[in-house]
Amino acid sequence: MKLNINNNWIKKFNSPFFICGPCSVDKKKYFFNTIKKLYNYNIKIFRAGIWKPRTFPNLFEGIGEKGLKWIKYIKNKYKNIYFAVEVANKKHIKLCIKYNIDILWIGARTTSNPFLMEKISKILKNTKKIILIKNTMHNEINLLFGAIQRLNLNNINNIGIIHRGCYNYNNNIDYRNFIEWNIYEKIKKFNSKIPIILDPSHIAGKKKYIYKIIKKSLIFNYQGYMIESHIKPSKALTDNLQQIKPKLINKYINFILKNKLKYLKKNNKLKIQRLKIEEIDKKILLSIYNRNKISLKIKKIKNKNNIKIHQKERFKILLNKYKKLAKKFKLSVKYILKIFNIIHKISINIQNK
Ligand code: PEP
Ligand code: MN
Repeated sequence: MKLNINNNWIKKFNSPFFICGPCSVDKKKYFFNTIKKLYNYNIKIFRAGIWKPRTFPNLFEGIGEKGLKWIKYIKNKYKNIYFAVEVANKKHIKLCIKYNIDILWIGARTTSNPFLMEKISKILKNTKKIILIKNTMHNEINLLFGAIQRLNLNNINNIGIIHRGCYNYNNNIDYRNFIEWNIYEKIKKFNSKIPIILDPSHIAGKKKYIYKIIKKSLIFNYQGYMIESHIKPSKALTDNLQQIKPKLINKYINFILKNKLKYLKKNNKLKIQRLKIEEIDKKILLSIYNRNKISLKIKKIKNKNNIKIHQKERFKILLNKYKKLAKKFKLSVKYILKIFNIIHKISINIQNK
């Protein structure tokens, strides 16, 4: 399907542009002070979660329409500022239109659902508002592309994509979401005109990783950044571990502005491929970590049943399987067997401990 993407909307913002603000609007005092501080640091586009998709019930699900009234008040006070709000249904969209919200974004959980995307696209039909769409929770990029096609089929053209990473099963010890740098390249190949925005907050999940992600991102040409900020992160009712104070936002933005051009002038082709290799290496390490956890469970079962830790026959069978797979995947059998010998050793060692 031929896409019709209009990216003129980015011209009204500086490049790169920054969308900052709380994960969700909570206390009035926090919200107003967060925006005030960010505004004083020259932020002009704000994010504000009004309805929050929560994994479990009975948690804070957003402040609702009251928050939109606060936004209206703030927009009157500061002038020439823009607000972005997540929408997932008809009520959200109608209210955002009523309160003149400038940018609507579609969250990762919504992008993955073609039924919802079909509905939302129909409700938004012909809108000239800026619609930002996040990549899906898991790395199924075609659901994102299908969602964009659905928007486009309903004559919605002012589109941008937010790259927010993909689920990491090891988020307790690592980033909340894998970065999946290849998402950037896949989008560019799908359509080179769609502006791509990086959301390091939801990739990081923890404050301390945000800077690292931003630093790495400079070799790509992200046209914008969406970063969560809250005046009192520890008091935030959602994503409190990843929200940063406005002062830190200012520091990171200055870093991006100071360094972006410098990075972009260089030929980054090799660096980009290397970043992708590092992502895969991290996944290999995390796979060994996951494997070890199972090894420890096996240790318990063996001990309980008086089974010897080292099972020669079983390992032989495994090596044979992996030899076949190595051949199938066109990998060096010799080295793959070496790798599995070492992985096996790691496992035996922790079982013997
Ligand atoms: C958010 O931006 O607060 C959010 C819910 O993000 P995502 O849809 O990327 O999980
Ligand atoms: Mn959030």
